[in-house]
Amino acid sequence: MDGAGGLSKKTLSNVVILTGRELEITRGYLVIEDGMIKEISEGSPQSRAVDLKGGFIMPPFVNAHTHVVDSVAKELYLGRSQPQVVGPSGVKFKALESTSPAVAKQATKATLKEMLATGTIAHCDFREGGVAGVDFLRRISCSPLKSVILGRFSRTEEIPALLSRADGIGLPSLAIFSEDEMEEAAAAAHRAGKLLAAHVAENAEEMAAYRNKHHRSEVEQAIKLNCSFVVHATHCTEEEFLKLKANGIPVVFCPRSNSLLGVGVPRIDLALKTGVEFFFGTDNVMTCQPDMFDEVSFAWRCLRRVDTSAGSEEARRLLLAATINPLEFFKLPWGPVEEGRAATFLVLARKNNLLHLSDVYAGLVNRARVDNIREIYCGGKIIIS
Ligand SMILES: [Zn+2]
Repeated sequence: MDGAGGLSKKTLSNVVILTGRELEITRGYLVIEDGMIKEISEGSPQSRAVDLKGGFIMPPFVNAHTHVVDSVAKELYLGRSQPQVVGPSGVKFKALESTSPAVAKQATKATLKEMLATGTIAHCDFREGGVAGVDFLRRISCSPLKSVILGRFSRTEEIPALLSRADGIGLPSLAIFSEDEMEEAAAAAHRAGKLLAAHVAENAEEMAAYRNKHHRSEVEQAIKLNCSFVVHATHCTEEEFLKLKANGIPVVFCPRSNSLLGVGVPRIDLALKTGVEFFFGTDNVMTCQPDMFDEVSFAWRCLRRVDTSAGSEEARRLLLAATINPLEFFKLPWGPVEEGRAATFLVLARKNNLLHLSDVYAGLVNRARVDNIREIYCGGKIIIS
């Protein structure tokens, strides 16, 4: 940092910057002063600068759906169906119950560090285990990673205590409680000004069973409960995406988890077509490493699989879904990469896999990896280099 007049100043030059709310491409330089982005300009700076050799600056990732404590149960999905893995009596819960708190803490901490190292500085976790489960994760800090924690209850009497500790309620499924209990939970979350979210439309058989029993779809029930967002929507129809959009309810897609658990491929093409807001999550750590580079590149494959017309604009929208859109939704304490904001961003090196890109958005979505991370800035400080 240069110490001009007591101000801490640094210039990063020769870089492609994904700028502002829309990730517009600026080829030039960025000036950091006192932890803030002082200037973003095209061309070359007048002052001394760090030459990033054509690298990239982009916002950090927000992982909108995780279950980090099942880090203790990696690969236990082998030989099992999705309900046998994560259903109410699935192997995941047996593993969580039989693991000592010390081991669970160590495994979870390693996962949180991994998230930071792969460019994610906030995640939203669906925590199991009621109030104690929320408290357990809250105590495992990995600064500056921010954990938005949604808890679950087993009895409605737990809801007030849960909402006093958690950032909201994350329902494992809409089928496990009665309609009255669901309404009670939803009303309490809304009264407290906290989030209410649920897994929906992940498993086609369970979806059909839900519709037969309740005479409405899981999506319709999520809308009725006024959910803040829904997770998976793997089997949502175009009409359902339109309904979610009309009700201002975003979707969190977890395409790698869906594939590894054999439940299907989310229709990201329909989400783009309908304009419903969406984010990405990596879901259970027992299934997927929480690496958002991997998630967006897999999502890109899912999209191109059904729509080969998807190009630069669609890739830009996938990047927005992994960065800016959830940042605003979860009201996280940093902004887009633009002048006057905190200097919080990823610096990617343009080496090997990122050389000779003819399209920045599609190239980054398809090819960027964790080993491209040169530095992670958070409020002007380098936290990973
Ligand atoms: Zn989940």
